[in-house]
Amino acid sequence: MPRKKETLYCEICGMPIVGRPYYAEVDGVEMVLCASCYMKLVRSGRAKPIRRRETPRRVVARPRRSEIVEYEIVEDYYDRIRSARQARGLSTKELAMKLRISESLLRKIEQGKMKPSIDLARRIEKVLGVKLLVPTEEPEEPLAPPSGDYPTLGDVVVIRRDED
Ligand SMILES: [Zn+2]
Repeated sequence: MPRKKETLYCEICGMPIVGRPYYAEVDGVEMVLCASCYMKLVRSGRAKPIRRRETPRRVVARPRRSEIVEYEIVEDYYDRIRSARQARGLSTKELAMKLRISESLLRKIEQGKMKPSIDLARRIEKVLGVKLLVPTEEPEEPLAPPSGDYPTLGDVVVIRRDED
């Protein structure tokens, strides 16, 4: 989720970075550092400065990994493709032509024998107006709020009783 205002935290000392963040490779891992940690680590040779073409305007404090959205093809892709094609009155031949794939490949896909590539699935989505790709569910590390923020079982029971 993009946040409106992002505070960067130094990945070494954990302090909010005031002013410009510094980027360096520390032990082979790209990190965002505060000025003082950056200086220290670069001087000691532990950090390798990373040159960036331009100063990133919007850098998310959380690891980049959470920004990478990967897609996977829905389980019933063949059903969705076939129904959408039939609803549009297209033959497999016609649809195959539109997709620039062979009719036999399309048939295999519609029979569920072959999953389309992500790229092809995108094209099918466009041509047929169906949804075939869903973001892969990647378990994100929970933000681990202070334990007091979570209602205890007792609290939940009380809340429920109040609603009755
Ligand atoms: Zn620092």
